[in-house]
Amino acid sequence: MAVIVIDPGDGGTRIVGGSSPNNATGPAGTKEKTLALAVGLAARTALTARGYTVFTTRTSDVNLGLAARAHVARDHRASAFVSIHLNASDRHTAQGTETWLHTRHSARSKRLADHVQARVLAVTKRRDRGVKAKGLGVLSPNSHDPQTACCLVEVSFLDRADEEQKLLTPDYQNAVASAIGDAVDDRPQSRLRRALRLFRLPVLGLWPARRRPAAGAVDNRIGVDSAGHTCAEERLTGKRNHIGGTRRVWEQIDRPTVFWVEQ
Ligand SMILES: [Zn+2]
Repeated sequence: MAVIVIDPGDGGTRIVGGSSPNNATGPAGTKEKTLALAVGLAARTALTARGYTVFTTRTSDVNLGLAARAHVARDHRASAFVSIHLNASDRHTAQGTETWLHTRHSARSKRLADHVQARVLAVTKRRDRGVKAKGLGVLSPNSHDPQTACCLVEVSFLDRADEEQKLLTPDYQNAVASAIGDAVDDRPQSRLRRALRLFRLPVLGLWPARRRPAAGAVDNRIGVDSAGHTCAEERLTGKRNHIGGTRRVWEQIDRPTVFWVEQ
């Protein structure tokens, strides 16, 4: 089942790897990091109920560096990564929902961001501040697997008293979390998975499972190359030295001296 990583923003008491411990604070003293964790854990529940395997970058009041947060998704080959934050403005007058992409985002990240923005906005019913892009470290393509759709949602502005009170209620937290679950489910690849689930087709029975050897491990299998030769494929993960890809070494069984290396 597809892996989703939820990143509750901020945390802890000090800056770690570009991640601040807290940004927004409500008039009654509610901290962004606390609500981000509450919504994040609720999103984990919502996504697990939808059949996903979910990892969170943190489950308590600790801070992680921005790259370390992204690496949780990369190391699990996540299909989607959603970072959850609450907003604040200098004059405490702004309100609304916005979703962020990295300036160098993929098409699948854009699709995810559009769905997250639409679904979360339908719950907050605040101003539509749109999907925007800037060079956010937690979404950097340097730290993510290119296959992972990633975005960051600023649910609403916590520094407004009425919204702070709303954000403190579990019902509202769960509704925002469900919206994030629906947004992940909205993607085309999720639709196929959902259809298969509907008809109770065993996905792993239809196609061979994508095997994931441990970092640096060798995964041997027999295959046929483009010239029709029977080959043994040795698949090494690139995790150990952060190549960020898969190295394939093909050895032709009927001519064992010939090797190919695909990087
Ligand atoms: Zn934040």
